Order: sequence, then structure tokens, then C-alpha cells
Amino acid sequence: MVVYSELNPPPRLLLGPGPSNVAPRVLKAMSMPTIGHLDPAFLQLMSDVQTLLRHTFRTDNWLTLPISGTGSAGMEAAIANFVEPGDPVLVCINGYFGERLAEMANRYGAKVYRLEKPWGEIFTPEEVDAALREHPAKIVAIVHAETSTGVLQPLEGISEVVHKHGALILVDAVTSLGGVPLFVDDWDLDIVYSGTQKALSCPPGLAPITVSERAEEVLSRRKTKVISWYLDLTMVRKYWGVERTYHHTAPINMIYGLREALRIVQEEGLERRWHRHRRNATFLWTGLESLGFQLVVPREYRLPTLTTVYVPEGVNGAFVQRRLLEDYNIEIGGGLGAFRGKVWRIGLMGESSRREHVVLLLAALKEILRL
Ligand SMILES: *Cc1c(COP(=O)(O)O)cnc(C)c1O
Repeated sequence: MVVYSELNPPPRLLLGPGPSNVAPRVLKAMSMPTIGHLDPAFLQLMSDVQTLLRHTFRTDNWLTLPISGTGSAGMEAAIANFVEPGDPVLVCINGYFGERLAEMANRYGAKVYRLEKPWGEIFTPEEVDAALREHPAKIVAIVHAETSTGVLQPLEGISEVVHKHGALILVDAVTSLGGVPLFVDDWDLDIVYSGTQKALSCPPGLAPITVSERAEEVLSRRKTKVISWYLDLTMVRKYWGVERTYHHTAPINMIYGLREALRIVQEEGLERRWHRHRRNATFLWTGLESLGFQLVVPREYRLPTLTTVYVPEGVNGAFVQRRLLEDYNIEIGGGLGAFRGKVWRIGLMGESSRREHVVLLLAALKEILRL
């Protein structure tokens, strides 16, 4: 029988598309003793998390809670609860995660209409308006921060158009929550989900979601049961609401971690945090360009939490990533789908968004590529 050594993960600097580095305070909170999921002390922590999440989402939505599971579980909860078989859903696809939304909507029986733009571009309100004229839909699904392309999608104008057509707007905010401006109430967004391991700098494992009153009404008027039992918000909300009815055992220590991560967000201040992300991203963009690299996305809609940069002609992108990891303990990401082998993806999210990390990465790239 093999005797396994004690766990000892390497000390990586996480500058990829997620997870990001986790604050020591969050890890410490997660190591606290596990208590029962109906313990009054835990119920209080749950309320704290909901209040802090509303603050971070900039919303007063009552139905705001963390789904058990990673960002994709948030995506699946958003689709499963608001799509009934046969419902028309318009999905805006300009990257890998828009594609995943379409795939999930399809699996839950939606009639999916695809509005497509090339990877690296954004959608305009006029385009969404035209698509809805052609195909009226119950829901319009769109990604706020496309981690596959590094695009930050403006949402205000689109939300207005969607509501003019009487539809709901469903938003993927996995790589935006806590890193770039997101105003759920001011922008009138209906269903917004995120993940803990990107700009919130908590380990992967929870997916915050928030639902507008308008969308809650749609949920209450469903004719069919939610197909996913585990993600059924009509039941999950009773555990997070006044009833406190058991549904599934909450991942106690993950909730501890999220509470601490959100406390850190509150202490720093959301606006200051957004500014920090933009400042460090701008510093990275300038540094990359001065080394001769070309960025994929035009400045106006470049995403501060994730930067896509072209792998220079004649350079093996995967080789550089391996050198960064093995010689410098730095993780960055490669391209997905249409961008496979063509781009690197550099994340500056949460704890990872620091000026000294940018300096280190640029210096390492310089050494590896002999620039
Ligand atoms: C990472 C990510 C997801 C999926 O989250 P997981 O935690 O990997 O399940 C969904 N959407 C976007 C935009 C993401 O960046």
C-alpha cells in the first residue's frame, strides 16, 4: 500500500481565467469548525451572506442567494428555473460561454434562437431589437464578461430593449461580479448569476444568483415543475427564506469562505475595487503593448478582469505557458474554441489584481521570449 505524502500544492500565482488567488482570510474562515445547516448560528451567517451579496450585486432583490456548485451551476439554475419546454429563448453568442448558455437552454427544452457575433465583438441594442422583432422570446440570455474573449458587454441599452419586448434579461456575470461595475437594479437586470472563484477570490464551489421581482413572478407562474430537482429555486428559496425548510445540506465551510470574501469586498468598497481592477488592467495593457504584443479587444470594451493577447507569430503559446508555470509559478490561460492556440488569456481578478503581479508577469514573459 502506497503511503501518500501530506498535501502540498505548489505556490502558484493565478493569473488565468479562474480560479484566482484566494485571500488568506478566506482560507482561514473556511477552516473554522463545521456546524449544522439548521443551527441558528449558521442561519444568521446565511442572512449575512445574502445581505452582503445584495450589496455586491447592487440590488434589493429578495431572491438573492448562493447556489451550491460552481459558476456553471449558477448558469444552469438560471436556465432551469426560467425556461419551460417550448419557451423561445434568444441567446447572444460571441464566445464560449454564450455557446454554453445555448447548449443548456436547448437541454431544458427551449426553442433557442441564436444571435451571433464574431468572437471579440459586442452586441448593440439595435441588433437585439432586430432579433426580437424577428423572433419574439421569453428570455434574452447574454454574457456580461466573456472570459473566452476578454469582452465587456454593455448591458443598459440592451436591458431596455429586452423589456420593451416584454422579455426577461438573463445575465452571466461570472467574471464581472466584484471586479467591474455591475448594477443589477439600476440596469434593471432580471436573472443574474456569478461564481465565487473569479473576481470574488473565494475558492470555486458557490454560484451567487439574484432574481428580480418580475422574474420571480414568472417563476411562480410556471406551468411545469423545474426539471432539475437540485437547482429548483422554488424549493431552495424556502431554505434561504423565512421557512428554513431543509432542501439539501448547505456547503457550510464554503459559505464561511464566501461570507469572508464578501466582507473583504465591503471593506475595500465596491467602487474602489472596480477602480483597482481597471488601474492594474490598464497597467498590464500598456506593458504588453510596449513589449510588442497585440491585444485582441478594442479599448472601449476591453474587460479589466480578463485580457486576451495574441500569441506572436512563430511562438508556441502552450510552451510559454508551461515555462511560466514551471519556472515562475505563474498560471495564465490559453485560448478556447475559435481562439485555441491563437491567444493567451490573462486574468487579473480579485486578489490576483495587483500591480506587482503585472510587473512579475511582464518580466517573466520578457525572459522567456528574450524580448
Ligand atoms: C468561468 C465561467 C463560467 C463557468 O464557471 P465554472 O465555475 O467554471 O463552472 C461561466 N461563465 C463565464 C463567463 C465564466 O467565465
